Amino acid sequence: MKSDERILREGIIRHCLWMNETGLNQGTSGNISARYGDRMLITPSAISYDALQPEMLASLSLDAEDGAWDGPLKPSTEWRFHLDILRARPEAGAVVHTHALFCTTLAMARKEIPAAHYMVAAFGGNSVRCSAYATYGTVELSNAALVALEGRNACLLANHGMLTVGATLEKAMWLAVELETLARQYYQSLLIGGPVLLNDDEIADTMRGFGSYGFQDISEEKAR
Ligand code: 13P
Ligand code: ZN
Repeated sequence: MKSDERILREGIIRHCLWMNETGLNQGTSGNISARYGDRMLITPSAISYDALQPEMLASLSLDAEDGAWDGPLKPSTEWRFHLDILRARPEAGAVVHTHALFCTTLAMARKEIPAAHYMVAAFGGNSVRCSAYATYGTVELSNAALVALEGRNACLLANHGMLTVGATLEKAMWLAVELETLARQYYQSLLIGGPVLLNDDEIADTMRGFGSYGFQDISEEKAR
């Protein structure tokens, strides 16, 4: 294995461990993928993140229609949406999927996150949508996620969780943390009568500002 692939695999595992240690995700829920050339590296299905070694990740061709993989363990059941997102978004380098508590709470109620806080603009517009419901691991879920992601870099997955898409692992995880924070804040604002929403001009102003402000990615993975 080339050293840049090993670094990327180690980065995926580090982010898996981190998201569970911080409580952003729990157990073997969630999964992470990253682009490596014309392939996708992804966490294996239902394996404790503590047990993961770089060699245990699955590697799939981005052209693979049948889910054929290289590696000792079968890939995440959600390989389909990870693959479809990386294919649809050439600028995307990583996808993070979690069952983060507040995102999932909203997704269970099939509520999108509206422009209740200016940080919604970090996700590409004036809302973070909630997808239609489809069974986990299906092409129907992948299709529903792609619809909810239109013009956005994150979405909630109905009665399931959330996902974020970033140029790098670091950026996708930064978005995941911000999304869970936003979901919690929105949920809490609903408890006290609901938020006053920002209008489209106010969100557009914020998005212009985000051209020069935002997460600064200095990760090793970025060097790919
Ligand atoms: P995997 O363990 O197969 O990645 O599944 C976890 C999950 O979140 C399914 O949606
Ligand atoms: Zn899931």
